[in-house]
Amino acid sequence: MKNLLEALLAKNVPACVYPSSVHNLNSAVIALARDEQKRFLLVAADSAAHLPEGFAGEAFELANGAYGLVCPLDAINAAALRQHFPWTAPRSLRLERTTIGCGDRLGLATIGQLRAAKNYQLSPVLAQQSMRELSMTNRTFRNVVDDTVFQVFAADYRDGYGADGDHLKNIPDIDIALDAGMPMITLDLSEVMNAAAGDWSDDEVLAAYNALPEDERKLVETQYSDQTFSLAGDVTVAIDAATARRCAVMYNKALAFSEEVYHHIKSRRGDEFDLEISIDETTSPTLPSHHLYIARELQRRGVIVSSLAPRFIGEFQKAVDYIGDLAEFDRQFRVHAKISKSYGNYKISVHSGSDKFAVYPTVGRETAGFLHLKTAGTSWLVAVSVIASREPALYRQMHRYAEEHFNDMLKLYHITADLSRIPNLDTLPDSELPALIDSHPDARQLLHITYGPILTGPLRQPFFAAMHKWEEDYAQALEKHFDKHFSRLGIPKR
Ligand SMILES: [Zn+2]
Repeated sequence: MKNLLEALLAKNVPACVYPSSVHNLNSAVIALARDEQKRFLLVAADSAAHLPEGFAGEAFELANGAYGLVCPLDAINAAALRQHFPWTAPRSLRLERTTIGCGDRLGLATIGQLRAAKNYQLSPVLAQQSMRELSMTNRTFRNVVDDTVFQVFAADYRDGYGADGDHLKNIPDIDIALDAGMPMITLDLSEVMNAAAGDWSDDEVLAAYNALPEDERKLVETQYSDQTFSLAGDVTVAIDAATARRCAVMYNKALAFSEEVYHHIKSRRGDEFDLEISIDETTSPTLPSHHLYIARELQRRGVIVSSLAPRFIGEFQKAVDYIGDLAEFDRQFRVHAKISKSYGNYKISVHSGSDKFAVYPTVGRETAGFLHLKTAGTSWLVAVSVIASREPALYRQMHRYAEEHFNDMLKLYHITADLSRIPNLDTLPDSELPALIDSHPDARQLLHITYGPILTGPLRQPFFAAMHKWEEDYAQALEKHFDKHFSRLGIPKR
């Protein structure tokens, strides 16, 4: 089999195969290879008739009647891989204890992320993107999943991985993610919940509450008003009448929508899905009493969620560590974890979860590893760091381009970077560029939020060319970065 691959490779010098990607399929052999410009799939068999079906590419006749295809990494060949190697397709991780979202905006990060993930007792959600990220990177959910399929195949990773249509707000968008085979849906309730009512006076809340249907009000009064809920570990959560009314006004519509979405996903995937409810994209922290109301109402409505993302106290800004009172975070996180255990037993999901090393000990301990942690942009920043160390001239161009687009991107992301604190790039030697992106919070945030303009503008081609050249550096840096995350969270090693 190997010599068939070598014969096919000889038609494409200089190129090499990824050793772990070589897979036999009956009398054929399939592998991922790369030349100086790109990656591609090789399919070879002892005769044309023995080529596995579904693959499409340039055909080559080899010696002794053998036959080979050199296939681009496109949707057709990704589908063929999923058909012949079902472990390359994403699956539901609802039965897995520890799940980690490892976003890959480049379609290049999976290999390095897996090197770290496979050493720990966790299941990675390798394909994960929001609509915002899709539009920023000119990708589709189909692209996101297919890019992951090729990398999972290359890494020979057979333990199963998830794919998350992240922060989706309506059923048409959810359908696009489901059509692309994504088993995890993160339902973002920010547009259907009435977050503003969190700041209303009791009188304003009462007026809105009185307009709710009678059966809803009756439920609030019998189930929640002036009730104290006892959770495990001597934790209690009290809900007074005014808070109960406020919860109904803020969340009842969103809860009904969650129920609709749940049944919709179930009708399409049976039990093979993971529904995450996200209420983190709001301005004020989720109070334990509100979390309890949401969890208990989801349970009453029969909505089974795999995970739920509250908005935590303090700030989870992109690219930097936790900002806030750690003792208070500790105290509140513990209550959130108990609520999730008592009402539905779902995972607490920590969004913008990368680089929050200060809170990882609490998150790992209070959930005992039954958690979902979502990272996305941090793998992009690791790529920027590789560019800073290997291609300093390109890094300087990216940095300047990021500055030009910073104000536009600030409209989309809440960060507190102050660009005047970044050292003058013109006088900074090349040798100090990697430290700038690895440890300067303002520079990190600048590059973090400007990935869209960089990846879709004039720097796209030179950036991806450089990443192809330095892909082994990228894999090593990602392994180290994710290993630090997993170990600080206290996830047991395999
Ligand atoms: Zn989020």
